[in-house]
Amino acid sequence: MTDHQRSRTRTDSSVLIIGAGPGGIAVAERVADLGIDFVVVERAAGLGGTWYQNRYPGVGCDVPAHYYSYSTDPNAAATTLFASGAELRAYFEDHARRTGVAEHVVHDTEVTDLDWEDGAWTVTSADGQRTRHRAVVGATGRLNRAKVPDIAGLDRFAGVLAHSSDWDPSEDLAGKRVAVVGTGSSGAQIVSALAGTASTVTVFQRTASWVMPVPNEPIPEELRAAMLASPERAREQYRATEAFVRGIAEASIDPDGPGARARDAQIRAGLESVADPALRRALTPDYAIGCKRIVFSGTFLTAVQRPDVQLVTSRITEVEPTGVRTADGALHEADVLILATGFHADNYLRPIRVRGADGITLDELWADSFLSYKSVALPEMPNLFLVNGPYTPGGSTNVLAAIEEHAGYVVRLVEHALTEHVAVRPDTARTRELLEAVRAEARRTVWATGGCDSWYLDASGTPLVSPMTIDEVAADLREVAWGDLVVTPV
Ligand code: NAP
Repeated sequence: MTDHQRSRTRTDSSVLIIGAGPGGIAVAERVADLGIDFVVVERAAGLGGTWYQNRYPGVGCDVPAHYYSYSTDPNAAATTLFASGAELRAYFEDHARRTGVAEHVVHDTEVTDLDWEDGAWTVTSADGQRTRHRAVVGATGRLNRAKVPDIAGLDRFAGVLAHSSDWDPSEDLAGKRVAVVGTGSSGAQIVSALAGTASTVTVFQRTASWVMPVPNEPIPEELRAAMLASPERAREQYRATEAFVRGIAEASIDPDGPGARARDAQIRAGLESVADPALRRALTPDYAIGCKRIVFSGTFLTAVQRPDVQLVTSRITEVEPTGVRTADGALHEADVLILATGFHADNYLRPIRVRGADGITLDELWADSFLSYKSVALPEMPNLFLVNGPYTPGGSTNVLAAIEEHAGYVVRLVEHALTEHVAVRPDTARTRELLEAVRAEARRTVWATGGCDSWYLDASGTPLVSPMTIDEVAADLREVAWGDLVVTPV
């Protein structure tokens, strides 16, 4: 972070955007285009959200880089099919600087409270500062509050211990005995990256993941040069990659379609390539493909077959100072313990305390279900909008594509609220009605019926992700359905 960033402070402005990750940057760019004054607050010292935060070994995105970027600015600089975390951080930083958004970001600022008072939001941050804003957009992301498992003795571990999202990349793992808990997308990337570097890798698997064995090929230099030279060529590549990714992503919501059959054949062939039958059995999930998020990795199944990598399926009973004890009595000694154990995915804006119209809090609003209007607005919360809120499409989809649709819609509502001097919020009964339809459909998907538990599900077992395609989201958000909204003068 530069001193310039450090000295920037937050002031009153028409719009406050919370989060300088991919979502916040997308919103800020559109607000800036309209000439509206705004500020972005970010709790981290840098730009890029999840790609700033996550620095674990092997971190990267398993959606191809040419599509995992803003549609207006495809990532032409990526050097591999799936970009590394460092390349993605650079992409979002660069985009925010080129669009001027970076100049509006106040870093190291954690919002703690949002209070709707006298027709505007009072925003309080951890340092006690309060500012006033006519509209607030929450772009806090979904996977950023680490879930640390409740394992006895964790605090007594004598070696290096970190959650995947808090990993310090300056830690040298060469020659170390590393234990990794979890075999989701993060765990699979860590194990792949450390196999052959660490002296040993012990991976604790509670539930096996279905693995799509896609190799991460380098981008041919001619293609990269052509995309860097021609925005038109870059957009063409974005569209081609989009079609490919959507085919795979949409297999989750059409499990009987040809896309799903091709996907499943590739996944099963990958598993068949595991030579040892006992290891293959251990790696075979007992639930439907697509129920949990599929792990895309061309290296994980190879890594776990190495002699220096051990897959442990016996349940963890305790962590001791020197390692991890499992139910079979074994002590797995380790110098380093990485918890790739996921996130509190149902936090959304929280732990920010939100108090809306008539003093209703977000916790009260969400006591029964995650009441939200088309993932972008909340009843009882005037002029508070979200990107990537509850029921954003899930299942290996490109969340950035959904975020772009959300950002475009939210900014239309913000513009209306500011120019007409009104407060906009969705009607509560209408929100409930729309949401029940989404929830009923979500309950019929493989995420709910596939026989697994995952971060997609709420406490009732209903997916918090929508089975809509990106095209359906775009169509749903094309026009503002004013009849669904309550608009009052402020
Ligand atoms: P995750 O998918 O929630 O996986 C957490 C893993 O930790 C699971 O294998 C889980 O086992 C295990 N676990 C949790 N508590 C445990 C305990 N007490 N004992 C043993 N095992 C335990 O988390 P994640 O891998 O961080 O991924 C979260 C999401 O982030 C992904 O689904 C994806 O959307 C996103 N992500 C994306 C990429 C990418 O390349 N695009 C990379 C990383 C993450 P159970 O399955 O039994 O619960």
